[in-house]
Amino acid sequence: MGKQEDFVLRALEEREVRFVRLWFTDVLGFLKSVAVAPAELDNAFDEGIGFDGSAIEGFARVYEADMLLLPDPSTFQILPWRGGGDGPATARMFCDVVMPDGSPSYSDPRYVLKRTLSKAADKGFTFYTHPEIEFYLFKDSPQAGVDPVPVDRSGFFDHTAQSHGSDFRREAITMLEAMGISVEFSHHEGGPGQQEIDLRYADALSTADNIMTFRTVIREVALGQGIWASFMPKPFTTHPGSGMHTHVSLFEGDQNAFYEAGAEYQLSQTGRRFIAGVLRHAPEISVVTNQWVNSYKRMMFGGEAPSYICWGHNNRSAMVRVPMYKPLKGNSTRVELRSLDAACNPYLAFAAVLAAGMKGIEEGYELPREAEDDVWALSERERKNLGIEPLPHNLNEAIQIAERSELLAETLGENVFDYFLRNKRAEWDEYRGQVSVFERDQMLPVI
Ligand code: GLU
Ligand code: MG
Ligand code: MG
Repeated sequence: MGKQEDFVLRALEEREVRFVRLWFTDVLGFLKSVAVAPAELDNAFDEGIGFDGSAIEGFARVYEADMLLLPDPSTFQILPWRGGGDGPATARMFCDVVMPDGSPSYSDPRYVLKRTLSKAADKGFTFYTHPEIEFYLFKDSPQAGVDPVPVDRSGFFDHTAQSHGSDFRREAITMLEAMGISVEFSHHEGGPGQQEIDLRYADALSTADNIMTFRTVIREVALGQGIWASFMPKPFTTHPGSGMHTHVSLFEGDQNAFYEAGAEYQLSQTGRRFIAGVLRHAPEISVVTNQWVNSYKRMMFGGEAPSYICWGHNNRSAMVRVPMYKPLKGNSTRVELRSLDAACNPYLAFAAVLAAGMKGIEEGYELPREAEDDVWALSERERKNLGIEPLPHNLNEAIQIAERSELLAETLGENVFDYFLRNKRAEWDEYRGQVSVFERDQMLPVI
């Protein structure tokens, strides 16, 4: 038993932990949890805790249902919203899902990311990410057919007296920090009731775990305050959507591999090729970075969410932005991917982005010309002349492109790739058969 496991076993006693929740994530990015008694953990670290994998969407077929959860002791935390004070506490650990013979489960999104990270590590790279997570706060829990009401009418960076948003952010950030998640920045976003909280840079596996925790914490804090939080990418037609712009960089040892002193925008050849990879493969990985029917409605009206595949320095209409804060220190060189939304599965999305970027590096892709204009303001013809292609317009297009993608199949692995695309096709089919209020309003009066 290693040091970290010992630490966990000691903490369980000292903090009088009564339940330990073993957390893992399904293929679509929903958090799953099994609670065990602390006495089980000794064994769990060595042998894992068995569960019925066939009960989890996309994990296993019925005849191969036996799976095990292997807790990752480095992720041990007490849950602050479950008796985290003096009394008995509840703790959690993220788990790897393994098969009875100890081999990793190919359906575990955490494993998909780990496998992609280790391929990058073989080439000497560590992948860091820093997400800007946006979400809406509503007055009540959702009711079918009823329009949601945001908690306020404020806008971008607004500071208002007695604002619900700032109380909310204060409590949420305190809770996140109690769970070891550092917050860098937070503010009111552009829509009414819309918030943004940015997490500090961390390696991509920790960031993905942190995003899963973040979504849980935000929902818990909202419930505690009698309101409702949602990461739905585009809850309103007329207000901006919620994205998860993600700043990424590769490190070689303690050197930022995207940084080159004196180069244009301080961006090394590795950085340029990485961006080129992300741009070239953006349509193929879109089904993962933007996985819902609703995701594509966020990316069609501007509102600082990208619709076109291009990059620019400090160009907020571009899909990839190279930020130019001054003075920009070498090691903070990074690129911001603006397509992701916070309703993605962060393990799969980071794996797909990294695989696309690594492909650019390995194959030596040339970075296309920078987009200097507001790409939304250009005409279709102007964009065509500049070689700027659109992102998939809807989930159906994204699925069709993804089905032909070797890169995505290889990155997700056969199990996840097949299940994911089957599930997404079913979502699209259900959606395209729906008769909407829009259609009735358009047609009934006239035809
Ligand atoms: N809400 C916008 C989006 O969906 C981003 C706004 C911003 O630039 O932070 O992507
Ligand atoms: Mg924002
Ligand atoms: Mg941003």
